[in-house]
Amino acid sequence: MKTGSIGAQLTLWYTAVLCLGLILFSCSIWLALRHFLHADLESALVDQARGLNKYLQIEDPDADASLPVEIDEYSQSMPQDHLLLVLDAKGQPIYAAPTGLTLQPGGAGKPYKLRWKDHTYLAVVQTVLLKEGRVLTFLALSSEPVDRAVYLLGLLLIAGIPLFAVCGAAGGFWLSRRALRPVDAITERARTIGLNNLSERLPVPNTNDELQRLTETWNAMLARLESAISKISQFTADASHELRTPVAIVRLAAENALRKTRPEAEYRAALERIQKESENMTHLIEDLLFLARADFDHSTGETGTVELEGLIEDVCLDLNPLAEVKSITLRRKTPGQHVEVAGSLSALRRMLVILLDNAIKYTPEGGMVSILLEPHSEHATIIVEDTGIGIPEEARGQVFQRFFRIDPSRSKESGGHGLGLAIAQTIVAQHGAAIELRPASHGGSIFAVSLPLRASA
Ligand code: ADP
Repeated sequence: MKTGSIGAQLTLWYTAVLCLGLILFSCSIWLALRHFLHADLESALVDQARGLNKYLQIEDPDADASLPVEIDEYSQSMPQDHLLLVLDAKGQPIYAAPTGLTLQPGGAGKPYKLRWKDHTYLAVVQTVLLKEGRVLTFLALSSEPVDRAVYLLGLLLIAGIPLFAVCGAAGGFWLSRRALRPVDAITERARTIGLNNLSERLPVPNTNDELQRLTETWNAMLARLESAISKISQFTADASHELRTPVAIVRLAAENALRKTRPEAEYRAALERIQKESENMTHLIEDLLFLARADFDHSTGETGTVELEGLIEDVCLDLNPLAEVKSITLRRKTPGQHVEVAGSLSALRRMLVILLDNAIKYTPEGGMVSILLEPHSEHATIIVEDTGIGIPEEARGQVFQRFFRIDPSRSKESGGHGLGLAIAQTIVAQHGAAIELRPASHGGSIFAVSLPLRASA
């Protein structure tokens, strides 16, 4: 029996409860039987004594001489194992069976126990009124058959309890092992599952009980783990891939510049290249760090009140030069009142910059980018709309995925790594909000973010 196993504990408890139950049951059976048998003997004795008294009164012999004969006749009809003594008013024995029997006092008119010649009896003494005067009858029935039955039953129960307990414990242990056998199988399999074979699952017992539900829950958890690990691996692979190109460029630029002595302008050009790629890598690493942290911490970090009208104005001022370079009109439509949401100012600002920057990036020269703020009773919606190239329907479900770019070559030209919208979506989710992408009627894209207002947040 394995120590610390549920099977052993169940068996111990089961045996203890079984023993207690058996002891209680046996004691009650034994006491009840003893009580009933003694009560039975007592009522038999009382009946016999009453019968004897009646017999004496009915027969009531005139002469003392015939009384022992009458009593002897009656005595013959009584159970073999009995004592009978009849005394006259002076206490002289009229009849004694067996001979030599003397009065064994006790009981005061009620049945009482006595020992005579190493045998146990239940006796009763009564006074009977006859014509000739009163006589004293002493009648005793052997209690040995009853005592023997009670004793034997006691022996049987004492011997039976350990036997039943041992059988019960063995049966209980076998049943618990049988019921818990799938747990061993599950434990064995769970031990073999690691990072290298996360796609394996635990065997599900078809028992429709707690064990089946437990294994199904574990399998669901394994599936979630597998998906999370695969996302992390993908993320790491994509990140390394993205970093490889700028690192190679930096190394080549440095190696080239160092290969021979060059004029200062060439060194400067190489250093500028290195500086540009380093900045590019810094941005990429910051984005990667943000997403990696967000994966483990779903809060925004700092929280406070963010006033959206002012924030939008600020972001538009910052990005206006970018729009101007491409002769894009940056239109802002806000309600002209304070609209407050709970959240992180820097995170919401970053999200708006991503959406507006993308809108400007993917809108051809001369186009228009609009940002609208619509307050509602419980939330405020920020809409960023452009007249740009739009997002094809089949790519709409993927644009929020990390490193996803519709046209990688175009996106790379503009310095994008396909992380902007993933970051925007993470920020929106951290604020308990949702971001929605819709096509604009004129071919561009519409990104709508609904944030819960400060009071309801
Ligand atoms: P990137 O940094 O490459 O722009 P994003 O995650 O911001 O990455 O965007 C993912 C892809 O979604 C982009 O490569 C681009 O193809 C597409 N996209 C994003 N915003 C727009 C937009 N306003 N108009 C058209 N395409 C867009």
